[in-house]
Amino acid sequence: MFCLSPRSVSLRQQWLRCLFSVLALGFAATGLHAQSYSTAMLADGFDYPVGKPGGAGYYVYRGFSPNGHLGEDWNGNGGGNTDEGDPVYSTAHGVVLFSEDYRKGWGNVVIIRHAYREKTGQIAFVDSLYGHLKVRSVKVGQQVARGQVVGTIGCGPYRMYAAHLHYEIRKDLRVGMRRDLYPKTYSTYHSPRYFMDSHRSLRMESRRVRVPINTFLKSNPNRVTTSTIDVPELTTRTTVRPKVPENVQGVIQEETNIESATPKKAKSLFEKLFKP
Ligand SMILES: [Zn+2]
Repeated sequence: MFCLSPRSVSLRQQWLRCLFSVLALGFAATGLHAQSYSTAMLADGFDYPVGKPGGAGYYVYRGFSPNGHLGEDWNGNGGGNTDEGDPVYSTAHGVVLFSEDYRKGWGNVVIIRHAYREKTGQIAFVDSLYGHLKVRSVKVGQQVARGQVVGTIGCGPYRMYAAHLHYEIRKDLRVGMRRDLYPKTYSTYHSPRYFMDSHRSLRMESRRVRVPINTFLKSNPNRVTTSTIDVPELTTRTTVRPKVPENVQGVIQEETNIESATPKKAKSLFEKLFKP
């Protein structure tokens, strides 16, 4: 009973063969699943997203750092909210992939996909992201030119920041609004100024190229799906709340930070809370 008879071996092999062919068919079907494309003008260069073309009148308040701040915060030289409502420009020719009020931590966001020719001759793609916008002036699927207004500088949702533009350039076309799923490194992102400076002026090629679209995941963890929220009745009575121990308060503050609120961190929160 511990060894298989020739007949059962052959049955098992047949079953495995069958399983593999089903799997192969499955993969083939996935492969056939049509990748959707749009087109875009090949970029003739990448300008700065404010004070076009070279960022005159603006400075980077907070720069790019892998595993930290994944973009650049652009502020007007005037300081405070003096730059609120200033135009934000598409860094290059491209097609709009995302234009939405994403709420939590982000507010109005526009993402544009650009095709450009690398020095090697190869056509490559990048996504540029414009966050915390006061208004968005482009729609998904729209073709935009370098220097075209895509929105204005804002303060983010519920005016949670001093007015600034949060600006990213991604080389991984899957990221979209799911930064938590991909490495927060140079394998996913470009340092925006480095990329723009090294691609400021590209050879003019009046040519449209095919651009892959629908590469973002559909799920959207921060999305507020309800338009109206039931607010519990509030009383003017002062309520006495139990005091939260300082270390727990610290962990809560850290873990509710939008940047670090990932499933991995949720586990470490549990561990931190229950560690002696
Ligand atoms: Zn930022």
